[in-house]
Amino acid sequence: MVGWTLRIILILLVARALWRLTKGVLEGAGFSRDSVPSGVKLVRDPVCGVFVAPARALSAAADGQTQYFCSEKCRAAWRGR
Ligand SMILES: [Zn+2]
Repeated sequence: MVGWTLRIILILLVARALWRLTKGVLEGAGFSRDSVPSGVKLVRDPVCGVFVAPARALSAAADGQTQYFCSEKCRAAWRGR
């Protein structure tokens, strides 16, 4: 019976070590804070709610702010309001 106890303790220690390792890797990759990778700032399309990268999005300025859109259709819809 002593053998079983040692085996269970060993399994628990290994499982804990693996969990900490996995958690550390995920946190290091920036998964814990946000699903968005750091360095790439995404903005929300106010019409359809899709997140777009400003560098690749269509934009329109209003009230000193710049809005970004996923498509010309969304930009036209936003301007038409
Ligand atoms: Zn859109």
